This record gives sequence, C-alpha cells and structure tokens, in this order.
Amino acid sequence: MQFCPKCKGILMPTKEGVLCSSCGHKEASKAEIKETVKRKAIVKQDSREIQETMPTMKADCPKCGNKEAYWFSQQTRAADEPETQFFICTKCGHRWRKY
Ligand SMILES: [Zn+2]
Ligand SMILES: [Zn+2]
Repeated sequence: MQFCPKCKGILMPTKEGVLCSSCGHKEASKAEIKETVKRKAIVKQDSREIQETMPTMKADCPKCGNKEAYWFSQQTRAADEPETQFFICTKCGHRWRKY
C-alpha cells in the first residue's frame, strides 16, 4: 500500500497511477511505467519484426548456398571488442556470424 507524500492519506490506484483519497494528490505509478518499458523491449526482440525491417545483402549461406542474407550488427558484451556482424539466410533461415 502507498501513502500520500503530502498528507499521508491512503493512495487509491487509478488507470494512470494513484490518487490520494484525502487531498486529491495524483501520482503516476512507477510500476506501470516499468511494465510499459518491459513490453517495448520484448517487441524489439521479436525475430519476425527484426527480419521484416532488416536490410539484405549479398552473402553466401554456408548451409544452403543461397546468395542473399539479412544482416545486422551487434555489439558484443565486451565494450572494447568490435561489432559482430550477423547474417540470416533469406532462404533457409540459417544464422551465422562474421568477425
Ligand atoms: Zn494526500
Ligand atoms: Zn541458407
């Protein structure tokens, strides 16, 4: 339970956040904001969405020999390492990386 920082009254949950039942003080819910950010992050990680917006380039797939692949670069965990280029075959979906 949350209490009003102004009058120490009980804060009632509303759509946007919380509302003080005694003085009418409103506050945006921090938990609500976090939830929204988390949901956005999940959408970003969706591989289908990535593939739809990813550029393609000429690259030889080591699995099926296809000559085109989606590509994207990603910073590895160590900050001093160069970016790693990733490829996803447009034909068979095989993934590989290039250093
Ligand atoms: Zn209050
Ligand atoms: Zn392939």
